Amino acid sequence: MEEIRHSLSHILASAVKELFPDAKFGIGPSIDNGFYYDIEVELKEEDLKKIEKKMKELLKKNIVFEKKEVSKKEAEKLFKGQPYKIELIKEIPDEKVSVYVSGDFVDLCKGPHVKSTKEIDPKSFKLQKLAGAYWRGDEKNQMLTRIYGLAFENENKLEEYLKMLEEAEKRDHKKIGKDLDLFSFHPEAPGCVYWHEKGMILWDCLEKLGQSIRKKYGYIKIKTPQMAKSNLWITSGHWDHYKNEIFIFNVENETYCLKPMDCPFNIQIYQTKQRSYRDLPIRYTEIGHVMRNEKSGELNGLFRVREITQDDSHIFLREDQIEEEISNLIKMIQEYYSALGVEPRFFLSTRPDDFMGEIKTWDKAEEDLKNVLEKHDINYGMKEKDGAFYGPKIDIDISDALGRSWQVATIQLDFQLPQKFKCEYVDQNAERKTPVMLHAAIFGSFERMIGILIEHYAGSFPFWMSPVQIRVIPISENYLDYATKIAESLKSYRVEIDESNETIGKKIREGEMEKVPYLLVVGDREKENKTISVRQRGKIDLGEMKIEEFLKKINNN
Ligand SMILES: [Zn+2]
Ligand SMILES: [Zn+2]
Repeated sequence: MEEIRHSLSHILASAVKELFPDAKFGIGPSIDNGFYYDIEVELKEEDLKKIEKKMKELLKKNIVFEKKEVSKKEAEKLFKGQPYKIELIKEIPDEKVSVYVSGDFVDLCKGPHVKSTKEIDPKSFKLQKLAGAYWRGDEKNQMLTRIYGLAFENENKLEEYLKMLEEAEKRDHKKIGKDLDLFSFHPEAPGCVYWHEKGMILWDCLEKLGQSIRKKYGYIKIKTPQMAKSNLWITSGHWDHYKNEIFIFNVENETYCLKPMDCPFNIQIYQTKQRSYRDLPIRYTEIGHVMRNEKSGELNGLFRVREITQDDSHIFLREDQIEEEISNLIKMIQEYYSALGVEPRFFLSTRPDDFMGEIKTWDKAEEDLKNVLEKHDINYGMKEKDGAFYGPKIDIDISDALGRSWQVATIQLDFQLPQKFKCEYVDQNAERKTPVMLHAAIFGSFERMIGILIEHYAGSFPFWMSPVQIRVIPISENYLDYATKIAESLKSYRVEIDESNETIGKKIREGEMEKVPYLLVVGDREKENKTISVRQRGKIDLGEMKIEEFLKKINNN
């Protein structure tokens, strides 16, 4: 599929070139659901139809994709008048440059591509939208027009995807977040969330769930600083690997960083005492507030923020404890996600190219992780070269109600950081040894997890998470007293009374729009019979019942 998607990006560029001969081309990769091309050209939304039509014409011509190796000099001639391509050619270290010719269009490209456009079904793709994108993602550079296209195996799959997008738009967490009064964003603090009262209820539910599970598995709660001098991050290696994402500033002529990760601080707490082999594993957990300098163009609601709150843990352990500890983490993850109503999927991420340490240690660590996954009968996927620079990891994905998958949790095995910081414990023979470290975030970040849950549930959260669980609706102000009494008897839940002067119909509609799980209507009859009339979310009328009966019902939730 990747070859088809990438070939379509060349066909897209080719069509744009025919229609807009002055266009200057940036890059055009394939992406998850299709492809894009960044082009310096002025376009309006309605031009997309024209370009799409031209692409279909080109596809029907059975254009052949031909790879050629040319010298850099020849390449520069070939791309005369294409400044972005020339810039890329200049950066290629090799003598020879690989280009692909398709019809009248030549592109700087390593491939691979389809042999001919015959392999591409013209009905299986669609140009989706326009966006602005700075050349090479740098806002100091020229803003180019990014044309996005969707491409799938066949027309049906494309249709399915378009329907999913439509549904996803309805479930957009930014929209629901506003409608349900959960959170807001403000231009003064890009990428930072302002949590409102009801959003904080979701937050607290996640926090409590996490705490209760972690307590069971022997975790110790800690809290570490928001900033530190840069030397801490130089020691940890984050300075070399993540410097661009760290907020850096000066205080009294010293360089400080806002914390991009919790790990080094956890290590410092570990080091405040001499540790014995009997003390291990030591399991720290921290609601870690980390700041990362994400590019403003890439910020996206709760999904991509600059101020990130992780449900972080760091475990210090002996090598012989790795299997058991990871086993526990896997059990914990399964507990969490079953509470959240989603199914986790596991992946093993292996050694990346910019790894730190010995290959032998890496191989052993990857072997350990494999063994645990297999012991738990977990059908896992592989993510080759996707490990962290300090160790391999197990990544956990979940699928939402629309079938989209999200990476949420990770368990990272780390042999490097404890060495760099010279962490120690004393073993049975009174010798000093270096512990192994595990980094584990169970739902990743509160922000992103809440965003995912909002879209997964379309705002209709399970009862235990719902910001308002029950709303009592008096038919008129005459029944306010009785409504108050009812609310009082339910006060161990999040209950409120609709005291507005609206009609009963309007109040019920309002409650449904706000996705309140239960609306309790009370009027003359209910007051007389000492009952309530219960409406369950989803327009289900459960009829009149005694409060005890209702309590029994919600306790089964
Ligand atoms: Zn290409
Ligand atoms: Zn960590």
